[in-house]
Amino acid sequence: MKRILVVEDEPDIASLVSYNLKKEGFAVTTVHEGGEALDAVKKKEFDLILLDLMLPGIHGMEVCRILRAGPKTKNIPIIMLTAKGDEADRVRGLETGADDYMTKPFSPRELIARVKAVLRRSGDNRKQDEVVRIGSLMINKDTFSVSKNNKRIELSATEFRLLLHLAERKGRIFSREQLLGSVWKDETFVEPRTVDVHIRRLRSQIEDDPSEPDIIKTKRGIGYYCEENR
Ligand code: CA
Repeated sequence: MKRILVVEDEPDIASLVSYNLKKEGFAVTTVHEGGEALDAVKKKEFDLILLDLMLPGIHGMEVCRILRAGPKTKNIPIIMLTAKGDEADRVRGLETGADDYMTKPFSPRELIARVKAVLRRSGDNRKQDEVVRIGSLMINKDTFSVSKNNKRIELSATEFRLLLHLAERKGRIFSREQLLGSVWKDETFVEPRTVDVHIRRLRSQIEDDPSEPDIIKTKRGIGYYCEENR
């Protein structure tokens, strides 16, 4: 279910928008001030934000600017809600990074059509960008590429799968046998030691100091893991 954050201080508009989005099957969170919007995106992930411009507290334009500057929020699509005749605001809104705008009053049908169109466009963009991070290491699942501090690291297919397997399950410790089962799958003639060899090669490429690894850790006598909060 797609989650939408509605930021609108006028109660009538807020409930009308929320009602129509829910009817279409969206999960809706409504807030009434700019500051509340910024709090909401810290607590939850949203697929789209409907952002009124004239808000008490932090102005909609400023909210948009802050969202665009945040690494976690910069890709959330934003549709700005502007009052009739605010041509200058509309232009500024798009310049600040809004994806689209709607002029009040708008019909429920227009609202749903715009929301779906923006979600469709952003869905395409975001999918190309599926990234798992550990510290400064970025693993892109769609391009099978890995980079650290923006420098590309060349890994073999097996090293990549091994790294991704651990990185996607931070905090869980895997034995060599478990890793063989899920990373090497049906390949025969591989022995647990193979895992150690690949971990060593992987560390030599991704760790600052392979003898003191901080991305892939060893749990003595058990196996390997990536730390939970990295
Ligand atoms: Ca308003």
